[in-house]
Amino acid sequence: MTVLSSFLKQLIKLWLAPDLALVGQRRERRMRLLTCLVLVVVGSIWGVFFSLRGEWGVVLMDVTLISCGIAVFVLTWRNKVRSANLLLFSVIIVVVVGMTLLLDPYSAEAPRATHLYLLPIAVAALMAFREEPTWLRYGVALLCLGLFIALASSTWTPTRAYSLPDDVRLVGSWVQGVASMGMLMVLLHILQSDVSERSVLDRDLQVALREQQFELHYQAQLDNTGRVVGAEALIRWQHPQRGLVPPAEFIGHAETTGLIIPIGQWVLAQAIRQLHVWQDNPLFADLGLAVNISQKQFRQSTFVDETLRLIDEQGIAAQRLELELTETLIVQDVDDLLRKMNELVARGVRFSLDDFGTGFSSLSHLKRLPLNTLKIDRSFISDVLTDNSSHSIVRTVIALGHNLGMSTIAEGVETAAQLAFLQSIGCEQFQGYYFSKPLPLEAFEAYVTQQHAKGFTAHAPLHIPSV
Ligand code: C2E
Ligand code: MG
Ligand code: MG
Repeated sequence: MTVLSSFLKQLIKLWLAPDLALVGQRRERRMRLLTCLVLVVVGSIWGVFFSLRGEWGVVLMDVTLISCGIAVFVLTWRNKVRSANLLLFSVIIVVVVGMTLLLDPYSAEAPRATHLYLLPIAVAALMAFREEPTWLRYGVALLCLGLFIALASSTWTPTRAYSLPDDVRLVGSWVQGVASMGMLMVLLHILQSDVSERSVLDRDLQVALREQQFELHYQAQLDNTGRVVGAEALIRWQHPQRGLVPPAEFIGHAETTGLIIPIGQWVLAQAIRQLHVWQDNPLFADLGLAVNISQKQFRQSTFVDETLRLIDEQGIAAQRLELELTETLIVQDVDDLLRKMNELVARGVRFSLDDFGTGFSSLSHLKRLPLNTLKIDRSFISDVLTDNSSHSIVRTVIALGHNLGMSTIAEGVETAAQLAFLQSIGCEQFQGYYFSKPLPLEAFEAYVTQQHAKGFTAHAPLHIPSV
């Protein structure tokens, strides 16, 4: 009972959890959770029914359904989308085929109908594996269609030992027919509306570019003395109807459609223009500005020339520009990456590795690349004081940075205790809500001015409490 109530509680919590995912992903997550619930409920009802009849082979199938429902729930909870989908679809396909052959075999009196579910499952696969390679997405859908055709056009039956009585199956064939066709209609409707929502997002992003609806917010980066030494430029979308839209809601989509290239160019140009504006103001003239560069943008053959052209055009010191790359970028085609980085580094541009620790960059790559800074991902900082492995990872990254001659910056510092600990283990720079959230230009400038007026040494948050 307690297990069931905690399961339901978790389900409701997950259902209500705010989710910044892209259009469609949130809905898929909810649909997967709903499917888990259906699997557990249907598996339990059938399990009880068949165990009363002593048909243990079928009960085993029901237990598989229930276990699958729980496992998919856990995987979804942990954001392991691919594993959740693979498990869900493999089990559902096997169970539907098994039920068709064992419980619902063809007879002259009643046609079989359970195989009809393979049609909505094929459409669901097209939705669930949308972000996966084509062979996987269409492979699962075609497998369902192939099995559907095979079962619809044959009367083959391995055994009639578990077959339900014909009168039950006759009613069942109507129920299964209506239920499966209903599911098919709903899924086709969602698939279609998803496509149009995505194209609306596409169109809106293009309008946003044309009509300059993007803006940059700036999040301060501080050193050990409390001095603001730089900022990270973070894009926001001032949507005419939706208000301020955070990057998590459109950057991923822009990456898949390629729109990230013009968006990224706009961000880079805007950041360099801002550095130009600041260079005449003594308070801001030394600030560095970090810009997030997406993989597609950096892979562009014109990226280096374009960046150098912008630097020259605005006449800024290239040292003040820092390009943030992610680990996914540095694991592919390292030679091309190295060549481009070296060209920019030769002109003074600096590089940092964003979200460090979340990807799979190899140490040998790390050693070869001309990186200035490792940015320790927020996920490690948030539980650095409570989780032993985060604690060790953060220590190791800082030591690694030092050994490789790079500086380290901790992202997502939210409390004085986190800051004190990070300082005590040698972290040099900090960024996070404890100091400042990303702010619009005027607010950021006011923050820097205020920090300056306070005087660096008297900076309260950076006073190191004894640890
Ligand atoms: P990121 O580059 O790792 O940026 C840091 C994110 O962590 C920002 O979210 C920032 O607001 C958030 N953050 C910083 N300190 C704290 C903290 O103390 N607590 C919490 N809870 N969050 C904190 P934001 O602005 O929503 O950006 C999310 C991601 O979107 C960025 O992660 C970056 O990957 C991407 N992004 C943002 N702007 C751009 C851009 O111009 N180009 C590209 N390609 N990606 C961008
Ligand atoms: Mg970043
Ligand atoms: Mg980051």
